[in-house]
Amino acid sequence: MQETRSTCPYCGVGCGVIIQSDGDTITGVRGDPHHPANFGRLCTKGSTLHLTASRPVTLQTRLLQPQLRPQRGQAAHPIDWDAALDTAAQRFAATIDRYGPDAVGFYLSGQLLTEDYYVFNKLAKGLIGTNNIDTNSRLCMSSAVAGYKATLGADAPPACYDDLAHAQCLFIAGSNTAWAHPIVFRRIEDARAANPAMKIIVADPRRTDTAAMADLFLPLLPGSDVMLFNAMLHVMLREGWVDQGYIARHTSGFADLQAVVQDCTPERAAAVCGLPPQDIATAARWFAGVEGMAEGGPRRPTLSLYCQGLNQSTSGTAKNAALIHLHLACGQIGQPGAGPFSLTGQPNAMGGREVGGLANLLPAHRDMANPDHRTEVARLWGVESVPARPGKTAVEMFQAAADGAIKALWIACTNPAQSLPDQTTVRRALQRAEFVVVQEAFATTATAQYADLLLPATTWGEKTGTVTNSERRISRVRAAVAAPGGARHDWQITLALAQRLERHLRPGQPTLFPYAGDTAQACAEAIWNEHRETTRGRDLDITGLTWAALEADGPQQWPYPSGARAGRARLYADGVFPTPDGRARFVPTAWQPLAEPPSARYPFSLTTGRLRDQWHGMSRTGTLGRLFGHASEPALQMHPQDLQRLQLAAGDLAHVTSARGSIIAPVQADDTLAPGQAFMAMHWGGEYLGGRSSTGRPLAGVNALTTPAFCPGSKQPELKHAAVKVLKAELP
Ligand code: SF4
Repeated sequence: MQETRSTCPYCGVGCGVIIQSDGDTITGVRGDPHHPANFGRLCTKGSTLHLTASRPVTLQTRLLQPQLRPQRGQAAHPIDWDAALDTAAQRFAATIDRYGPDAVGFYLSGQLLTEDYYVFNKLAKGLIGTNNIDTNSRLCMSSAVAGYKATLGADAPPACYDDLAHAQCLFIAGSNTAWAHPIVFRRIEDARAANPAMKIIVADPRRTDTAAMADLFLPLLPGSDVMLFNAMLHVMLREGWVDQGYIARHTSGFADLQAVVQDCTPERAAAVCGLPPQDIATAARWFAGVEGMAEGGPRRPTLSLYCQGLNQSTSGTAKNAALIHLHLACGQIGQPGAGPFSLTGQPNAMGGREVGGLANLLPAHRDMANPDHRTEVARLWGVESVPARPGKTAVEMFQAAADGAIKALWIACTNPAQSLPDQTTVRRALQRAEFVVVQEAFATTATAQYADLLLPATTWGEKTGTVTNSERRISRVRAAVAAPGGARHDWQITLALAQRLERHLRPGQPTLFPYAGDTAQACAEAIWNEHRETTRGRDLDITGLTWAALEADGPQQWPYPSGARAGRARLYADGVFPTPDGRARFVPTAWQPLAEPPSARYPFSLTTGRLRDQWHGMSRTGTLGRLFGHASEPALQMHPQDLQRLQLAAGDLAHVTSARGSIIAPVQADDTLAPGQAFMAMHWGGEYLGGRSSTGRPLAGVNALTTPAFCPGSKQPELKHAAVKVLKAELP
């Protein structure tokens, strides 16, 4: 029996786990009592990880050998690794030669390790010369990135989990923390138990389990968040609750924002948000932290937690900025218990951002649009230049493939044929692309059915490297068992492709990927060291942190610059921000309506979200019967009054239709929703909703309905809202 310290591969809380193994078999898992994210606790998903990784399950669900589909419509057959990689390199090189570098695209995942992301990014931008590399983190965190950068000057969450214990007011917006980040929620419960005077405000269209513990629940209408936040600022200004001293010393642009919010009275907001004006005023008072404040004394600190309800929106950047404005206006930032704290959905969305693994980013939070940043990165990578042409983001990439502009797609560790909005377009893209590679641990995903070439990758319990959680904490991921079958590490596969493409694109030149080592761990360390060097002098500088220190001292937060003895728990305590003038920025943000408001034809507001016990497309959690105890089948949840009006009883099947597609799903009564709203979890793929299509491919789940409309600032699509109609399905 062996024990190996690692990190949970599910959500962005980033809990430490101890994997128990016996030879090649993972036999158990327990929470790591020394990990600062969870101190030994695990949620239902984390505590059952070992059951999803047992050899019998692995052999049924895993991709164990490369497979090539000779022609579309034919079955894939096994081939050896060299033949697979040669084929991949030859097809990508031929596409680049014929159509140029922007004819290829790489679509990655927030579940990849930082080292995987780093090599992929260098391959695309440094070697091939395209910025067509994006990730499913675009669907999850890009509005938070854009919001932080617009206001605070850098993509750096300024708070940490310890702040939960210091906050006197917790403002939770667009986050069902109880289900999506369960261990953070346990810490909220602890904080509330230790401090019964703490106020908790929850803003969410649904009365979630998180909302159930709120002192003030704000069931705002979908898409009205900016109006709510602007109205809170209006009240703070009217009542003299803003911190004029902080605004004057540490910010710019407040006058312009004041002009925007002067009309945002609670009464006007009430009509847009569907909330009583007095509740908006109460939220403003609690948030400002002025209750019981002595003249000139400190405010009660307010921490806000937010997630997809803000991010997955055509106003995602504005929603993030409008919430951060409240912190800046009240000086509620940089102090224990105060600050805007975005929760990351995936285990390494942060790591992907750090290495610049998105179409608009470069390593160490540099911007692709900044010529100086491109020059710096070209020098660091030893290449002539980094392309200036904007790359395609997630939705744009699949649209470009559907239009025929992107000819070859490389998809790693994600399932766009389920998770992207507007599945009709996504599936057209996968069919129209001339060559689709899917690098994946699981053979069961809907996307795998579209692959011309399938490459088996390692997964949790087998991989080695690092991830970064929501509070900027870098943790080691360690292999407890050997890879099953022929599975290889993601960075290893990418490296093998890169080395083959180098022979074609840079013949006779030294390799750009010199990651030598006797072991996978040594190579991962070499990649991480190169990433670390790119951070020198940047806001996320980790040049003071070594791999050995990560091994010896455990998980560490960034920044951790040279000479530091520890990472920094919270940022901006000195009121100096990483902007040209050192001041945080207020950016005028007016409320904008939804991309697709309900209409006479599509009268219901459909929102999507997570279940407590499932993860993404269920490749892993779906293998375990006990995780279906909480929700055993897909369902369209609606208010009982709406069901009655539609003459639907619980369990009846209904056609759910948007402007883009239609699915059939059983309905369920749910009075946590307001009349006129509907909810469906994002986990269920088409195999749960009507079997397979005539081609044998799984049909789409709820994303057959969702809109590809995205936020202009972040390019994050509005997965939280689509207008739909619901009709009883008449069965023969
Ligand atoms: Fe894993 Fe998230 Fe649960 Fe922690 S809270 S055990 S990281 S799923």
